[in-house]
Amino acid sequence: MATKLDYYAVLEVTREASGDELKKAYRRLAMKYHPDRNPGDASAENRFKEISEAYDILKDDQKRSAYDRYGHAAFEGGGGGFDFNGGGGFGAGGLGDIFEQMFGDMMGGGRRAKRAGADIQTQVEISLAEAFAGVKKTVTVTTRVVCEACEGTGSKDREAGVDTCPSCHGAGKVRAQQGFFVVERPCPTCHGAGRVVKDPCVSCHGAGTVQRTRTLDVAIPAGVEDGTRIRMTGEGESGGKGVAPGDLYVHISVAQHELFQRDGSNIYCRVPLRMAQAALGSDIEVPVIDGGRANVKIPAGTQNGEHFRLRGKGFSVLRSSSRGDMYIQVSVETPQNLTKRQRELLEEFESEAGEHAKGSPEHAGFFSRVKDFFDGTKG
Ligand SMILES: [Zn+2]
Ligand SMILES: [Zn+2]
Repeated sequence: MATKLDYYAVLEVTREASGDELKKAYRRLAMKYHPDRNPGDASAENRFKEISEAYDILKDDQKRSAYDRYGHAAFEGGGGGFDFNGGGGFGAGGLGDIFEQMFGDMMGGGRRAKRAGADIQTQVEISLAEAFAGVKKTVTVTTRVVCEACEGTGSKDREAGVDTCPSCHGAGKVRAQQGFFVVERPCPTCHGAGRVVKDPCVSCHGAGTVQRTRTLDVAIPAGVEDGTRIRMTGEGESGGKGVAPGDLYVHISVAQHELFQRDGSNIYCRVPLRMAQAALGSDIEVPVIDGGRANVKIPAGTQNGEHFRLRGKGFSVLRSSSRGDMYIQVSVETPQNLTKRQRELLEEFESEAGEHAKGSPEHAGFFSRVKDFFDGTKG
């Protein structure tokens, strides 16, 4: 046996080091020399083993005091050695477990739970009217599904053609001695499946799953908002035989509407009004998101930009039979391209206006402020 380094020297601590100091030193050095961080570096791997071995002895008070008294001799040889691991030396369940406890989370190497198949995503665009009423849409997704020919077994003879893997006896993983500690690896014979197939299925080449394009109906509820995600449980990728499939997420995007803007459960619609309609008042007809029409009474003297509310003519509310409101915003247009007659009428209108030139309170207020402004600059 090659000469061994002093365990304290290996951990770069003094002989008086406390348990905490040992632990800190071990963590620091083990992280530094871990094989995952030094792939293919034999000297780092060697160092890592020394560090692990040293720590395994020194962290245990009994072993540490034996080491302090007898040195490496305490742990060597057959009969005279200090039996600390059920006689197995640095065997199964020793360092591997410690290592996993200490570094499992840090290295991301912890045990993985049995997973479902992968989730998949798709997108559907609907109109605002469809979002209002709710709609059924068909989506097409390409995923792996359980192979029908072999019922997911991967075997031509189905279940009868599947045997427990002789290498791992069905466990799907094997424990291998790496230097003096034990690591668990996916079984190389069955690639972790735990079973082997003699005659692979011709449809899936033994995979147990095949790629399929499926069409699915998606029920999109009334009131759905742009950006909503609908989950369809179990419609994602197959996880293989006996494993739950993933989910399908359908992202809903709602197209812009030419007439309506939506804000929550309210709907806004801009309606142009001729100047005379606004001035004299009028009844107008407006479209409603549900496909119907509504009448709005525009009062005389309506100003540009004014809103009118139509109760209950707004958007459907998700999971409810109620509806929001609709708001009409009027935009009063200044007439252009006047006929001769229109021009005459407007000139007459304006001369009439001049006689009570005050106009609206806002109009009067503006000119009173203008007067104040000029008076101020003079004084
Ligand atoms: Zn198959
Ligand atoms: Zn196996």
